[in-house]
Amino acid sequence: MKWHRSRDPGDEDRLRKEMVEHQIRRRGLRDESVLRAMLEVPRHLFVEARWVAEAYGDHAFPIGHGQTISQPYIVALMTSLLEPTAGLKVLEIGTGSGYQAAILAACGLDVYSVERIPELSEFARGNLAAAGYLERVHLRVGDGSKGWPEEAPFDRAILTAGAPDVPRAIVEQLAPGGLIVAPVGGYGLQTIYRYRDVNGELDRKPIEGARFVPLIESSVPEPGLALEEPGQQTSDDLADNEP
Ligand code: SAH
Repeated sequence: MKWHRSRDPGDEDRLRKEMVEHQIRRRGLRDESVLRAMLEVPRHLFVEARWVAEAYGDHAFPIGHGQTISQPYIVALMTSLLEPTAGLKVLEIGTGSGYQAAILAACGLDVYSVERIPELSEFARGNLAAAGYLERVHLRVGDGSKGWPEEAPFDRAILTAGAPDVPRAIVEQLAPGGLIVAPVGGYGLQTIYRYRDVNGELDRKPIEGARFVPLIESSVPEPGLALEEPGQQTSDDLADNEP
């Protein structure tokens, strides 16, 4: 008996079914593996306990530190755009609550997710463990705009924070034929694009407008990218501050 719940324990299952029917299937998304993942992953375990009732609403939701867990439909849409197939390796930038990572793991992908706020990465770790997806999800604290070079190449990459463009490192870490899904645009308003590598060229297709929190790149320059002036010391020795 789960004594701490005032509502019927079946409520979350019912709320999740309604979420999939009304918010996702009704908007035309028919990818069965994604719908199954959205039905399976207990979204309420990815928000603070007192907000359980809000977890299944048709909107993004605050998770602390000025960040949000994305709207269920947007998570489903971006996941389906990644054409998820079991066994693929995916890079996620912006772990946040860990919910998007869990959905990708539920689709059978191996997830490598980078988050710049250490407290959120820990929050996600706890959520993923509680929901049972930690085994397929690898977490790292740092500036995701640099990707995760040690684990490259990635078959797929997803940005869950908005940026003026896809950071170069992420393009460079994409496997041949790979896909990137990212909200690209100005502060507070972006377009979700899907990029496909075709023989070394990225094909870009606009999908839908969205509002994501901004991708915040570390201001410390990458080694070798710092502007060097002749006769001056370079800043290389200061450059790698990642935890
Ligand atoms: N995918 C998340 C939602 C992420 S919100 C979920 O399912 O809950 C966007 C996240 O991107 C925030 O947690 C923010 O801290 C993080 N972020 C912003 N800039 C980043 C960067 N340069 N590297 C890694 N994470 C970043």
